[in-house]
Amino acid sequence: GAVPGSANLKQVKLERESELRIEVSEEPLRLRVVNGTAEIFGSELPPEIWRTFPPRMKFAVFTWYGATIEMDGVTETDYTADETPMVSYINVHAILDARRRFAKASTSNDPESSQGPRVIVVGPTDSGKSTLTKMLLSWAAKQGWRPTFVDLDVGQGSITIPGSIAAAPIEMPLDPVEGFPLDMALVYYYGHASPNMNVELYKALVKELAQVLEKQFVGNPESRAAGMVINTMGWIEGIGYELLLHAIDTFNASVVLVLGQEKLFSRLKDVLRSKSNVDVVKLHKSGGVVARVKEVRKRSRNFKIQEYFYGLSKELSPYANTSSFSDLQVFRIGGGPQAPKSALPAGSTSVSNPLRVTPVNIDDRDLLHSVLAVSYAEEPDQIISSNVSGFVYVTEVNVVKKKITYLAPSPGTLPSKLLVAGSLAWLESV
Ligand code: ADP
Repeated sequence: GAVPGSANLKQVKLERESELRIEVSEEPLRLRVVNGTAEIFGSELPPEIWRTFPPRMKFAVFTWYGATIEMDGVTETDYTADETPMVSYINVHAILDARRRFAKASTSNDPESSQGPRVIVVGPTDSGKSTLTKMLLSWAAKQGWRPTFVDLDVGQGSITIPGSIAAAPIEMPLDPVEGFPLDMALVYYYGHASPNMNVELYKALVKELAQVLEKQFVGNPESRAAGMVINTMGWIEGIGYELLLHAIDTFNASVVLVLGQEKLFSRLKDVLRSKSNVDVVKLHKSGGVVARVKEVRKRSRNFKIQEYFYGLSKELSPYANTSSFSDLQVFRIGGGPQAPKSALPAGSTSVSNPLRVTPVNIDDRDLLHSVLAVSYAEEPDQIISSNVSGFVYVTEVNVVKKKITYLAPSPGTLPSKLLVAGSLAWLESV
């Protein structure tokens, strides 16, 4: 009920194993736990402390044993639900935890037994994949593990801007507002919001990322034992399905968690039957997952790019730098004209090489408002096998003075002069 003295203050009492589902309106919302214990997607909220949640955020405050929550602000919607799949999710966590302990206790250097669980979360769009990923990582981190988070969803981008695939060690339960930490992330830039744009490139980058992580695990038994949690995209038909199989295979996943789709579950169970070391597990989708229409997803991609440069609540100011065309080199991967099949010599499928790296003229008008990745490559032919240090956003191209102006999250010269363009653009006026 309402609290006297403040029009927008509201207390909600939650019974054990229930949750308060909230969609924040266009105004931020403050919230705190006044009694009991509660968590947001696996991350416990400290008692009494107010947290501010940004506009449009959708989340649930869940309690295992009961709690009283206080909200200050007007929400889009808020309601309590006592039917949640949380018990089945925490049971999965318990099994993963046992496997991690088993891996850690393995005295041998045997790569099999010292390897903790490699979990991949799959399911259609809006089935709660990212959310389950967050919970599993936060619960593991709370118990002292440092699992590796892998994000293969180029459409949304949990760690950094969309169009990327990335991995990061998770050292503490995730912050319920900030989400995944970016500082230690290993990022590869694909450049498009859908794997459809260049399937071969997507696969190549997934492979690169997997190989680098594999190498890191060799020298780090602790993170090896903690294992990984891999989030995937919601495209599960046709090529999307092939890409899921490719990811399962490339990362040597040992646990496949299928959310919210019977058909996908039985397909995967069938094709992975021959692999005795892979468990395919079906889980219920939470009724709290909020479906996002295409437009909303597009908007949220835009916000994600804005967040990279300006911070979650515009608390950062990016640096504007100007460089001469001659100081930078911009490249594009793949593309090129696709000849119709009938025009090709028998046996060949396409003339364009999806992994070809081609230089882009900086005076190309297309570069204006585009997001470019700053590659760690030293030579253009290393671009596909190199991760990126970050991103810049092109705000001005001056053809007369041959200068390009861009925003960067930090001042000074870029760590490399090789930049990678994709098809991601961003209009700042959101
Ligand atoms: P997917 O990764 O499968 O596309 P998400 O995990 O991103 O789906 O969930 C979609 C949206 O629903 C997100 O904004 C998420 O925060 C929200 N959400 C998920 N579970 C709940 C819940 N139990 N209550 C309220 N919102 C939720």
